[in-house]
Amino acid sequence: MWPVLLAYYTGAAMAAGAMIAWSGNKKVTGRRKIILFHQEKPLLSCRALLQKRGGQVLKELPLVHALVARIPAEGRVIEELGLHPDIRLIEDDFEVHTVELPASRIQQEKQIVPWGVERIGAPKAWQVATGRRVKVAVLDTGIDAGHPDLAANVRGTQNIKFPGWRAGDGNGHGTHVAGIIAALNNNLGVVGVAPRAEIYGVKIFNRHGDGYISDIVAGLDWALKNKMQVVNMSFGTTRPSQALEEAVRKCVRAGMVLVAAAGNEGRDDSVMYPARYPGVIAVSAIDKNDNLASFSSRGPEVTVAAPGVDILSTYPGGKYRTMSGTSMACPHAAGVAALILAQDRHLSGRQVARIICRTAIKLPGLSPREQGDGLVNATALAAAARFIAARGTADEESAS
Ligand code: CA
Repeated sequence: MWPVLLAYYTGAAMAAGAMIAWSGNKKVTGRRKIILFHQEKPLLSCRALLQKRGGQVLKELPLVHALVARIPAEGRVIEELGLHPDIRLIEDDFEVHTVELPASRIQQEKQIVPWGVERIGAPKAWQVATGRRVKVAVLDTGIDAGHPDLAANVRGTQNIKFPGWRAGDGNGHGTHVAGIIAALNNNLGVVGVAPRAEIYGVKIFNRHGDGYISDIVAGLDWALKNKMQVVNMSFGTTRPSQALEEAVRKCVRAGMVLVAAAGNEGRDDSVMYPARYPGVIAVSAIDKNDNLASFSSRGPEVTVAAPGVDILSTYPGGKYRTMSGTSMACPHAAGVAALILAQDRHLSGRQVARIICRTAIKLPGLSPREQGDGLVNATALAAAARFIAARGTADEESAS
């Protein structure tokens, strides 16, 4: 039905199967678990507690005060740990998969403004703001930092998935998302919603588009520590995770703008995590005719809608591709968040979300469960930013 469809969703997320790992000389057969500890227990002693019971610690997640470990499958180790007073919760560190259909190859020479960027009014907003000095983290498959239509805006990359390795993009998804946010306004290819925003490629998925919940949490931790203002999350899972929910909550409380794809489940009440969590801007997808994309998830958690069908953007190797999915809608909203923050960098994530909702354009024919407050809109941002900033200050004064 779709000429090109990037069905970028995580299917029923699988629990990581029993795998074999080595802890010292001892073979550990067990499942990957995230073990959340009580805040007052130092992670070092938490490590010792797990190791004493034959667990192999794989990673620390300081943001949620947790450890990722393989816990022996034999015996009742997991049950016993579950009752330990230092431990709040044990959950599976399950894999989140991305699934996509082939993208269409496009020969793009002279720069064009992609229809989605035009539809949300970004070119008109550039008279006021271009996203300059706003830090946007793209939690994804990595970014081709050398792409000539992105390079000047890519200010950093971080490989969470394979620490110590270059954070390139062997998949293409992350580079495509990055171009929607901030492809350069030059003579080449395409232009992004916020063409001067500073992009940071945080690689949490491998080239097959697979990553663990713990990789997402570690990516959010990196974003928070490195003072990212906007985080783009073009992925989702149908299965909730306490660790992910807590990580999201901490980032929202810290004032970051979190934007996530609603999901490609194509039915009502199917908004995925993390879009489903409070404080996250959940983005559904529309096509060129303002219809909801058939694949788009919908439900009461949808915050706004954005273009997500036949979206032209950057692709690794200096190329361009057309892709579809709420993965493509999400970065349109993240780009608008960057434009707003460029106007007033002191706005909190909640204030930015409020501006995005108040300035969104209600599309006739779409229900609130399909479009939230409406189509994300870049043109009203200047006046709205000033208005909300003034009002926000007044709110704080009256509250104190
Ligand atoms: Ca360009």
